[in-house]
Amino acid sequence: MRPLLELKNISLAYHSMTGETQALSNISFQVNDGEFIAIVGPSGCGKSTLLSIISGLLKPETGDVILNGSPVEEKGANIGYMLQKDHLFEWRDVYKNVLLGLEIQKRITPESKKYIEEMLRTYGLEKFKHAKPSELSGGMRQRVALIRTLALEPDLLLLDEPFSALDYQTRLSVCDDIGGIIKTEKKTAILVTHDLSEAISLADRVIILTKRPGRIQKIVTINFNMKDRTPMKSRNSPEFKDYFNLLWKELNDDV
Ligand code: ADP
Ligand code: MG
Repeated sequence: MRPLLELKNISLAYHSMTGETQALSNISFQVNDGEFIAIVGPSGCGKSTLLSIISGLLKPETGDVILNGSPVEEKGANIGYMLQKDHLFEWRDVYKNVLLGLEIQKRITPESKKYIEEMLRTYGLEKFKHAKPSELSGGMRQRVALIRTLALEPDLLLLDEPFSALDYQTRLSVCDDIGGIIKTEKKTAILVTHDLSEAISLADRVIILTKRPGRIQKIVTINFNMKDRTPMKSRNSPEFKDYFNLLWKELNDDV
């Protein structure tokens, strides 16, 4: 089976008046349809740069990004991006925020509206359809942001530290919430995080990057011996600690 996404020998340096910063060096990996990948690595190792390259916003100096068999920079790559800040607009209610992406892309149809209504209902936001973002909790705002992204029916979801602005308690429940929605909707996702627990509890595979310039240090397959895996059940399982120690050791061996 062809992988959904293929990265081949990606390298990139930023050039400025004062010199050159080699950000990424020779990154190759593949992602299968429906897989959840987490990328971890020290601050500044090039994680956000890598997501920008995957999305096609930034062109690598060497290498190729292939999505569904074609280069991402060609038109038609449908990729959803979710960031630390939810970027909801206060002057629009929840429904109009969720509709925004489709509106910009001129893709509002009776079907797409129905899909949105359905998601708002499934994920407990129907009552808040006409609420302003400021009336919602941080967790609910992230849920709205996710539904807005999913409304575009992306082939691939990129998440750049989406929970890191939340306090610890909220973060755990939002991680479970968002992880559950992504699984239910059978989306393929790549999550960048510096939180090892988040990576282990959500991902099928964790890619560990070295310090800058980011190279692949190791790819760890996460396999919990359980049915109907959820982030919470994963955190409470006996294997969790072993994965945590393994990733911790890999990250610290590099320093
Ligand atoms: P991470 O997300 O892993 O923290 P980034 O991808 O944001 O890392 O950045 C990788 C390296 O590239 C860092 O050293 C950063 O300072 C540098 N960098 C990021 N963006 C730019 C830019 N636009 N111009 C120059 N250097 C940059
Ligand atoms: Mg970053």
